[in-house]
Amino acid sequence: MRLSKITGFHQDEEGHWVAELSCGHQQHMRHDPPWQNRAWVMTAEGRARFIGMEIFCRRCEEIPQP
Ligand SMILES: [Zn+2]
Repeated sequence: MRLSKITGFHQDEEGHWVAELSCGHQQHMRHDPPWQNRAWVMTAEGRARFIGMEIFCRRCEEIPQP
């Protein structure tokens, strides 16, 4: 498991929020209740709280580490 820090957010063309990670990858932060409940991502204040937060990067896990 690889941890990456969230460095910022942007919206994709469908309006979904995407986290930008310190490893250079991006990860969707979908707010899609009741399956994925991420109401925090809908507000600027909520997103600001997650800047610098460490999350597991799915992309990094798929890439075999040397
Ligand atoms: Zn990554």
